[in-house]
Amino acid sequence: MHLTAGLHRSIQRDPDGIAIVDGAREITFTELAERVARLASGLAGLGASPGDRIGMLATNSPRYLEYVLACLWGGYVFAPVNSRWSREEMTYQINDAGIGLLIVGESGTARARELRETAGDLRSLVFCGSDPAPDGFVDYEQLISGSAPVEDCRLGGKALAAILYTGGTTGTPKGVMISPEQLLVSGLGTLVTAGMANMPERFLHVSPLYHLAALASALQQVQLGSTHVVLGDFDVPTLVEAIQKHRITATTLVPTMIQRLVAYVEETGVDISTLVRLGYGASPISQTTLRDVQRLLPGIQLCQRYGMTELGPVATVLTPEDHLDRDHPERLKSAGRAAAHAEVRVVDTVDKELPVGEIGEIVVRGGNLMLGYWNKPAETAEALRGGWMHTGDVGYFDRSGYLYVVDRLKDMIVSGGENVYSAEVEKVLALHPAVASCAVIGVPDDDWGERVHAVVVLRPGAQVTAGELREHCGAHIARYKAPRTVFFTDALPVSAVGKILKRELRASHETDAADSTKGT
Ligand code: ATP
Ligand code: MG
Repeated sequence: MHLTAGLHRSIQRDPDGIAIVDGAREITFTELAERVARLASGLAGLGASPGDRIGMLATNSPRYLEYVLACLWGGYVFAPVNSRWSREEMTYQINDAGIGLLIVGESGTARARELRETAGDLRSLVFCGSDPAPDGFVDYEQLISGSAPVEDCRLGGKALAAILYTGGTTGTPKGVMISPEQLLVSGLGTLVTAGMANMPERFLHVSPLYHLAALASALQQVQLGSTHVVLGDFDVPTLVEAIQKHRITATTLVPTMIQRLVAYVEETGVDISTLVRLGYGASPISQTTLRDVQRLLPGIQLCQRYGMTELGPVATVLTPEDHLDRDHPERLKSAGRAAAHAEVRVVDTVDKELPVGEIGEIVVRGGNLMLGYWNKPAETAEALRGGWMHTGDVGYFDRSGYLYVVDRLKDMIVSGGENVYSAEVEKVLALHPAVASCAVIGVPDDDWGERVHAVVVLRPGAQVTAGELREHCGAHIARYKAPRTVFFTDALPVSAVGKILKRELRASHETDAADSTKGT
């Protein structure tokens, strides 16, 4: 099993079929394979050997796909750099992964020069922007045109194919060692479960390709022989324009993007009816958003995935049929059932399986498990104990095997001896018409151990007091779960994929100074 097989199959079936639309230029499957084979050889010419880590510091572009395929082709380990990170974070990653060669996009050149000073392993820089390469950088197009193509090494099985960093939502991002087998198992298993296998798409890449969820979608589409269109930075009008212009049939978005897309469609009435398959995941989605999608984009096949970088990345799937099942509307609140490739359980603190309905840690087993965390044997042993990936998420199953993700273990609040799931309180707060967004965290409290504390962003012009919000919560959930304190702010800190960074909130709300509204 190797990941470039999809490209070879596409050439066999349709050599002149379009693999990538790059602005006004179209690259066929045959041309793509030629470019990838030359790039793999060019990277060797710059001193890369099989197994070496090669980084990419760039916003989304078709080069990202070429880079990933060239690494697989040449046997290098792709280790993309999160372009939103600070210099310190990038230095950490480049040193941690031991990246010697970095491919850099237009916006990253100044940063790359700094990194060459701060990151000891970094030797060579390749520029993949549209202008000629600046001083100190090798030109990407020249590297391709000036190198003779090499044979595909067909990297497969449990070889180390990539080091992908986790989202960094709960702490310092961890480098996850990914194998080709893991990506294939998760990718094909997800397609089969969703009933979307063997259907080449016109696929739009929107989410940042330095995250595994987006990269895995890309490689999944390579297996299908799809045409790829890659969007640079995300904004809704550009997204809509791309869907129309390229007659896009499928894409994957995170819930915050879907929310903004439906608001735009409602406001403008634009027609994006070529889009028939919409995947989503990465964080919980609101029921209102799902209903809006179904109302505004009738006939669209929705598919939710739950998983994580460590799982290649999919564990469960809520299928298009599940989304349309009017007899079981409650299932829309779930993350679906175990995908064809995975076994999923809910366990207690000593790893004993819990019965239906009981909340515990979600664990996963299957061919989609990571090889381990790079340079972190202790964390690897802990996460993979007993052969199961311990997700750090808490949830429960219903009688029909639907998994409900309740919260992250680290976000669970223990207040006065009771467990409070922050996500449950957030869902209730979000129902209040004045609340635009919110995060619920535990802050140290002398009386309660931890106190339920809400950080709230109000809708423009809306007004509400902390007392009124507590009242509102009390009407929906037990009193002890309602926030004891509420802090109003203008914006919440979020990660690149729109996840709220609660560790940052916890750090800034730990002190009494931040607690200005206590008791109000
Ligand atoms: P870090 O591990 O560094 O804290 P992260 O966990 O956010 O970051 P990812 O691997 O990108 O990094 O995200 C996986 C997490 O995202 C899961 O553990 C889960 O909490 C959340 N998640 C993913 N899909 C869903 C979903 N469909 N519904 C709810 N939560 C989801
Ligand atoms: Mg995680």
